[in-house]
Amino acid sequence: MGVPRRKLKRKARLACRFTTGTIRIEPDGRHVTLPRLGTIRTHEPTSKLLARIRAGAARILSAAVRHERGRWFVSLQVETTREITRVDRPDVAVGIDLGVKHLAVLADSSGEIRYEPNPKRLDGALKLLRFHSRRASRRQGPDRKTGQKPSTRWEKANCERNKIHHRVANLRTDSLHKLTTRVRAEYGTVVVEDLNVAGMLRNKRLARRVADAGFGEIRRQLTYKGRRYACPTIVANRWYASSKTCSNCGATKAKLPLHARVFTCDACGLVLDRDENAARNLVALAAACITGTGVAGDQDTPRVSKPRGANRQTRRQRPGHHTGRGGRAGGASLPHQRRKETGDRRQDTETQPALW
Ligand SMILES: [Zn+2]
Repeated sequence: MGVPRRKLKRKARLACRFTTGTIRIEPDGRHVTLPRLGTIRTHEPTSKLLARIRAGAARILSAAVRHERGRWFVSLQVETTREITRVDRPDVAVGIDLGVKHLAVLADSSGEIRYEPNPKRLDGALKLLRFHSRRASRRQGPDRKTGQKPSTRWEKANCERNKIHHRVANLRTDSLHKLTTRVRAEYGTVVVEDLNVAGMLRNKRLARRVADAGFGEIRRQLTYKGRRYACPTIVANRWYASSKTCSNCGATKAKLPLHARVFTCDACGLVLDRDENAARNLVALAAACITGTGVAGDQDTPRVSKPRGANRQTRRQRPGHHTGRGGRAGGASLPHQRRKETGDRRQDTETQPALW
């Protein structure tokens, strides 16, 4: 987020990437061989990849090793051909409104609404975390100022505490993957919002819940999994007022406070759940983008930046960003440049530069 930060040795994640040398999967399906490290046993079997390599369908290009959540992982970059699986309902679009109350509200173009509950994994673990954090803080931890080394007892307590965090993170990863895979295997077109997650994380009242929900990750997974099914992902402009617009008549409210959970239209009298209204607006965006109706235009220019002229309501850009000397924010958002970058994936529209 923001400007690149200097990499610190004590903070950097332990990771490295091998591009040359001996990188292979051993024929027993349980070991990998990496340059400098030699043959290492893996926790999970490698048999699936091994079968592909044996059949000549895959070729290993590189390997990345990283330390994450107390474990070492190896990722192998592989060149392979992939069959494009057909989604269940290719003609149906879905609008996804992400939120804290419900993790996602899915409104599809056939009019069906589905609510995905927010598992709130962190909330469930907070009590246990409090206990373990308190225990760790009673023991002699490390101090960089005085050069104090942590005691063995602190190390043990810290390890116990980290285990809880790791478990929460694993549970979250699991449920997010299940959600995004399910959505992508069913619907043809997916419309998501371009949420300012980095900005929301700066709000101290929202940050914990937003981070626990993993909004940014949901969008990332939906986008790359869409490519797997050769299905488009439409990212609504950050300034598109999906919550404030009436999904029935299109009237836009000037203000809608966060605590107002029910949307009431002043123009046509529609009363609807706030998130459901937003999801309906998003799915309407897909129709405008794909069929060529509305302002969003034909397929040649897959830009959905100005549907109904309702966008960019508050501030324009963070100060300093648009005045930059051809910086990222200014340069990357020019439409003709962006189309060149994303020329190979036809429908994969990104109307905003990914700022996070
Ligand atoms: Zn209305």
